[in-house]
Formats: sequence, C-alpha cells, structure tokens
Amino acid sequence: MRPFNQFTHPSFRLIDCPICGGEKFKEVITFTPDEFLSRRRKKYYDLSVLGIDFDTPFFIVKCLDCELAFVNPRFRADLYPKVYNEAKIGKYTIDDDGDGLISFSPHRYTTTAAEHARWVLALVDMLPRDDWDQDRSVRLLDFGSGFGYCIETATALGIEAVGVDLDDARITLSRAKGLNVLTPPEYDDSSFDEPFDIIISQAVIEHVDNLHDYLESLTRWARKGSIFFLSGITPRRIKMERKRGWWSKVMPIEHINYTNHKTLDRLMGQHGLKRIKNVVDVRPINGPRDTLAWPLKRYFPPGFGRGGFTAFYRYTS
Ligand SMILES: [Zn+2]
Repeated sequence: MRPFNQFTHPSFRLIDCPICGGEKFKEVITFTPDEFLSRRRKKYYDLSVLGIDFDTPFFIVKCLDCELAFVNPRFRADLYPKVYNEAKIGKYTIDDDGDGLISFSPHRYTTTAAEHARWVLALVDMLPRDDWDQDRSVRLLDFGSGFGYCIETATALGIEAVGVDLDDARITLSRAKGLNVLTPPEYDDSSFDEPFDIIISQAVIEHVDNLHDYLESLTRWARKGSIFFLSGITPRRIKMERKRGWWSKVMPIEHINYTNHKTLDRLMGQHGLKRIKNVVDVRPINGPRDTLAWPLKRYFPPGFGRGGFTAFYRYTS
C-alpha cells in the first residue's frame, strides 16, 4: 500500500492538521471499507454516491505536534453532507402513512430518561449562581441533538432547549415530538434573544471536518461562565479495536477525528474554553463493573478503559 500522502483520488483531499496546522504525521492504520464496515453497515451505505468502493483505502494518521489522530486524506468538504444523507440509504425506514415518523432504527439506545435527567441536572448545578437573574430560565443548546432525547428531557425539566442536527431523519423525528431543532444553516442564520448557559455536543467532534469552524459555532451564543459538555473517541480506541479484531467506533467514513485530553484542551483553549477539573462522574452505578470502575475514576482520567472521553469546559471569554 502506498503511503497516505501519495494516495490521490478525486473524492479525497490531503490536509494539514485541522487543530494545529502541523504537516508532520505518522501513519496509524490503513484499511478499506471491506475491512472496517460491519455486515450491517455494508448494507446501509451506498458508497458509489461518494465515488468510492469497498476497496478504497482509508488512512488514519497522528499529528506529531498536537497528537490528533485523524483521517487523511479525507473526503472533499462538499461530500460530507452526502455521507450522512444520500450515502446512508438503508439506515432508517420512514413510515409511509404520512406522519413522517421513523418506524425502525437499528441503533440501540440504552440511555434512560432518568440518566439524561441526571446529566442535565448535574450541568445545571455547575452554573455560576452569583448575580443569576431569578426570572430567567436556564438555556441549553445541544449541538448534534440526534433523536432529541437530551433536549426532550431538558424541556421536561423546564429548561429552554434548542437542538442542531444535520441528519434529515433525526430532525423529522425531533420536530414531530414538538422539539426546537435547527439544521446547521438555520442555526447559522438564527439570532437568539439570550445566550445559552449549557452547551452540549456529544459524539460530534469525531465527525467534524473543520474543527475551528465547529468551535466557533459552539461558542457563538455562549456567555462568560457557560458550561460545555463534550464526548468523543480517543486514539486509544484504534488500538483497542485492532486488538479485538473488529471495528465499530473506529469507522473512518464518519469518524474522522480521535482526540485525547491534551489535544482537546489545546483546541478548546484556542476558543476561550478552560477545562473544569475534578468533575465527579454523575452516571448511576448499573452493575458490578461500574461499582469497580467508580473508585478508579478518581485516579485515572475519564476515558480510561473504553477509548472514549467525556469532558467539561467553562467559557472564559
Ligand atoms: Zn496537530
């Protein structure tokens, strides 16, 4: 296989590091959709929309400066909307009876409403209390709101919640539930009366082509003191899945960035965000594994063990 920087294809472009602009990388892995797509995913993707096939190589490299692991070369920017819509033909079935509701999704959602509520309330608890106007509601933005579970819970708790998502099927479902969800262009054109106190973006950063544009969008309607909650995938996950012998989170068609804490702090710091340390995990204890993991979490950084991270930041600008 040729090295990543000698692979040329009309659907791809070679980029500098999207966080630090670095140009020196080390190759982490090269694999093809035939290798990294599960049987289920092979069925729901139409790769021809993206101008590729099951044998097209994908490269993940690691920046020698900031340690970001990312897909490079990656799709041309204009192809990314297609990755989430036209290329994903069989992912959802939309009911034909006219209500626009999704009748089937192969995704399993195990997070309960109670768990969402616990997260949301923990975030509310972190807000600054001095000089808080008691007549004002808490405002929450969920950037990448998916099926709307989080904004639905927040709304039920009396929080003014707005979602942003780019997946047509998920937006349709969220709106059918009466939730306020915008597409990214609608969000860009929106003007809000008040900034947001809590900004959530879960499992989004791994999908984002332009990371600095993404952070600008996230912070555009933040106020000084706003709390940010992000989650994503760490480079460690690549090692874990390679060892395991099958790929799930490491899926370079959609998951194009893998960030550790140091890398994330650097990106966030460039946009006025400072990490909130010593956050106690608010997830409920569900079984023996969590009972054992909880004390360990005091000594190891979040993300330990599962190749994922959760991180809290405060807007200081
Ligand atoms: Zn870099």
